[in-house]
Parts: sequence; structure tokens; C-alpha cells
Amino acid sequence: MCWFDQTKWQCGYWKWDSFRGQCNKEHRMGETCGLKLINYTTEIQANCKVCDQITKKKRRVKKMSEDVQRWQYEGNRWATIEKTNDDIAEINGQIEDLMRLHDERTRSV
Ligand SMILES: [Zn+2]
Repeated sequence: MCWFDQTKWQCGYWKWDSFRGQCNKEHRMGETCGLKLINYTTEIQANCKVCDQITKKKRRVKKMSEDVQRWQYEGNRWATIEKTNDDIAEINGQIEDLMRLHDERTRSV
């Protein structure tokens, strides 16, 4: 067992930080035995970078949806509407991927 620091965000996301010490089972310098133990956890009172990205992307989707609605009401720019709807679908896919990544991480502690 080797000791590591950990950073944990308020949303539940976490990551391994600095390596703090080797255990007796592992004698090679700079190597770790693979079984990680938490030495110290830094709690961050904010959401993690993944959450930030999700929030930003959601905001973009919202803005683009509003644009599409306005353009539809104005009854022009059909090509732009189509293009923007494609973009929205793509970003929604990215949001789903990020959320899945975040879920896997927050469940594994
Ligand atoms: Zn998060």
C-alpha cells in the first residue's frame, strides 16, 4: 500500500494528487505498489472542472436553442437553423459523455 494525497470537489469528483510515501512491499524508487491509500484529502468548496465544462456547454446549448427559436419565428435563416440544430445535438452528446465520466468517478469512492 502506498500513500497518496487526494483532492475532492464538493460535487463528489476527486483525483489523486502527490505521492506521499512508499510502503514496505515496494522498494524500487519512485514506484508504487498499485494499491493506493489516502494520506490526506484536500476538500475544495467548488465544483470540479468537468462540472464547469458541463455548465458552460449547457449554457451554450440554451443560447443556441433560443437563437433557433427566434430564427424560426422570424421565418428566415433555415440553413443556419439546421446547422445550429446539428451543433446542439453534438454538444448535447459531449455533455452526456462528460456526465457519464463524472458519474463513474463519483461512484467509485
Ligand atoms: Zn464535478
